[in-house]
Amino acid sequence: MADYLASIYGTEKDKVNCSFYFKIGSCRHGDRCSRKHVKPTFTPTILVRNVYKNPAHDPTCAMTEPELQEHFDAFYEDWYRELAMLGPLEEMHVCDNVGEHLVGNVYARYKAESDAAIAVDKLNDRYYAGFPLYAELCPVTDFREACCRQHEDRMCNRGGFCNFMHLRHPTADLRLELHDAQKAMLKAKGFEGIGRSSTRRRSSRSRSRSPARTSRRSSRWEEDDEARRSREPRESRP
Ligand SMILES: [Zn+2]
Ligand SMILES: [Zn+2]
Repeated sequence: MADYLASIYGTEKDKVNCSFYFKIGSCRHGDRCSRKHVKPTFTPTILVRNVYKNPAHDPTCAMTEPELQEHFDAFYEDWYRELAMLGPLEEMHVCDNVGEHLVGNVYARYKAESDAAIAVDKLNDRYYAGFPLYAELCPVTDFREACCRQHEDRMCNRGGFCNFMHLRHPTADLRLELHDAQKAMLKAKGFEGIGRSSTRRRSSRSRSRSPARTSRRSSRWEEDDEARRSREPRESRP
């Protein structure tokens, strides 16, 4: 019996645990779900909800597809670089779904569970683009299981309201560049912790970036979150 229960854990056959929460880290019923959302205490993956605001979701949006990609790439780079400061990143994904529980979600899987735990703590004290962040540990470790296969084949007929992840991808060059930058950063270990500190040393690689590439990066991480926090006190967290 125990073997059977273990084999169906988090699957559709499991009548106790929510398969959507287990596979995707987010379910459309949220806290009112009739099945259990078992929050992990030890996992390499973090989830930060509702942070990417895709301009295309605004019906008055007049941006072209290349402009939208540029907008997304800037976001992806901004987040990847910041999250990589907190520990070696294995992967980072951004949802392009429109349903409340998935829209703009950022998932990041670290090499080490301990880095994921630290990242959650630090991010929960930060703001991005003027909004406070809500980060949590997330049960997803296999993103192939979490992603909508039909969407990858451009055949999902549920569109943005699909309950599996519809990921938005950065351009291939950017992905490679970020992987290389992380490698160089780990090698140099010349970076300080989270925060856009003016004393942070940059690797020679990032200094050699072309001005055009550098100017695209107008980071929306708050420069001075201490000052902001003292103006807008947040509720204390449990
Ligand atoms: Zn659920
Ligand atoms: Zn889908």
